[in-house]
Amino acid sequence: MAEILKIDGSMGEGGGQVLRTALALAILTQTPIHLYNVRAGRKKPGLQPQHLKAVEAAAAICGGQARGAALNSRELFFMPGEVHAGRYRFDIGTAGSAPLVLQTIFLPLARAQGSSTVTITGGTHVPHSPCYHYLERQWLPTLQKLGLWARLSLEQAGFYPQGGGTITAQIRPVRAIAPLEQMERGRLLRVRGVTAVANLDPDIAKRQKLQALRRLEPLCRDSKIETIQLTSPGKGSLLLVQGEFEQATCCYFGLGAIGKRAEQVADEAVDAFNAFLASGGAVDEYLADQLILPLALAAGPSRFRTARVTRHLLTQAALVPLFLPVRVEIDAPEGQPATVSLWPENKA
Ligand code: ATP
Repeated sequence: MAEILKIDGSMGEGGGQVLRTALALAILTQTPIHLYNVRAGRKKPGLQPQHLKAVEAAAAICGGQARGAALNSRELFFMPGEVHAGRYRFDIGTAGSAPLVLQTIFLPLARAQGSSTVTITGGTHVPHSPCYHYLERQWLPTLQKLGLWARLSLEQAGFYPQGGGTITAQIRPVRAIAPLEQMERGRLLRVRGVTAVANLDPDIAKRQKLQALRRLEPLCRDSKIETIQLTSPGKGSLLLVQGEFEQATCCYFGLGAIGKRAEQVADEAVDAFNAFLASGGAVDEYLADQLILPLALAAGPSRFRTARVTRHLLTQAALVPLFLPVRVEIDAPEGQPATVSLWPENKA
C-alpha cells in the first residue's frame, strides 16, 4: 500500500468537503490518509454527525480502519481496504446531509466488482448541500452521461432540524468513466420545477409556485412547476427550478425555514437561476465542484464552463491532484464564470 498521505483539513473551504473527497480518494487509490485540522474553517470544527457517518460509511464499504473517528475529532487516520459491493444502511441520526454521505461512497462503490444498494437516513433537503431532488434531476443525469449508473429513490424527506429522511441508491459498477465537454448551453428551451411541503399548509406550496412562475414566465414562456407530495417526520418546504437548455441544464432550489416567507423560498431559487442566466455558464456552480472527482477518473480530458468559481471548486481542484495524476486548470478567480479543464493521466 502507498505511503500515508497527510492532508491539511483547513485547506481551501476547510469544511466537510475536504474530508469526504479525501475519504473517497483514499479508497479509490488505496492510499492511507492522515487528515488533520478537520473542518478547521468551520464555527463548530471537527467531525459532526454527517462527517462521522461519512467516515463510518467509507470504512464499512471497504473494511477500512479509522482512528480518530469520534464526534468533534479534528484528526483522523484512515486506512482503506478493498471495496465490497453489497447492501449498506447508514443512519446519520440528525438532519446531517444524506446526499453528502452518499456522494462520499458513490464512486468507490461504482468502481467495485458488483452492484450495491445503499440506504441512508438523515437530512434529505437541508441547507448547504445538494437536496435529494437536485441529486435526482441534476447530479445523477450528468453522471449518467459519463457512463455511471444509479437509481435513486426517496422514501421520505428529512428537513432541518428533525432529519429522519431516507434515500436509497442502487449503484451498478462501471468500467470506464467518459470525459465531459460542456462549454455551451445553447438556448433556454423550458423551465421545469417542483414545489412541495411536508406537514405544512398546502397553501405554502401554492404560494411558492405562484411566486416562481410570476418571475420565470417573463424569462421563459414554457415554465411549469409541479406540486409533489412529500412525507416526512418533520416540517419543511421546497421549491426547485431546473433550466433546460439546448445542450445543458442547471438546477437551483430554496428551502423553507421558520420565519421565511414562501415567496422568499421561491425567490432564492429564481435569483440563483437568474445569476446562472447572466453568467453564460453551461454547468451550475454546485455541480462544478461535484464533477471534479469523477472527471479526474475519466478516460480522457474534460472541459466545462461553470457559472461561477466557488471556494468548493478551488478546494476540489487542489485536493484531487494530491491523490491522482491529473492537472486541473480554472481560468478565472473566485466569483467569476470560468472554464474548468482537467487532464487525467489515462488510468481507466
Ligand atoms: P461543512 O462545510 O460545514 O463542513 P458540509 O460538510 O455540509 O459542511 P461543504 O464542505 O460545505 O459541506 O460541502 C457542501 C457540498 O454541497 C458542496 O459539494 C456543494 O457544491 C454542495 N451544495 C451546497 N449547496 C448546494 C445547492 N444549493 N445545490 C447543490 N449542491 C449544493
